[in-house]
Amino acid sequence: MQTIIHYFLHFGFPFFIAYLGFRKDWKKVYLILLATMLVDIDHLLASPIFEAHRCSIQFHPLHTWYAMVGYVVLLFFKRPYNIIGIGLLFHMLTDLTDCMMTYAGCPVCLEDALAIGLLRLLAGALGIH
Ligand SMILES: [Zn+2]
Repeated sequence: MQTIIHYFLHFGFPFFIAYLGFRKDWKKVYLILLATMLVDIDHLLASPIFEAHRCSIQFHPLHTWYAMVGYVVLLFFKRPYNIIGIGLLFHMLTDLTDCMMTYAGCPVCLEDALAIGLLRLLAGALGIH
């Protein structure tokens, strides 16, 4: 289920953003949004590259708060930079949702996650655990 939600957020939701927000050239916008998934190349710097219960937020260099400040700044630039910013911020939200779902199912799995403070805060706010 978590995988389905994850892929829906990665592929399906950008479609709605593109179609509802930029109807005139939604195809181009959709492609740009999908291209922002390349931000996950920073996972290649990690070892192991893939780990089941890892929360990417704060762990990978392009998934840190510092990087996100940069993505917010992109929003104020002209196209395509602002769309890239939307895509990247949305990507972070998707990954965070993923971390939350993992946390909800297994809080101890993320005990060492660098974003654990935020996850606990969100879990508290959402009434999980
Ligand atoms: Zn990611």
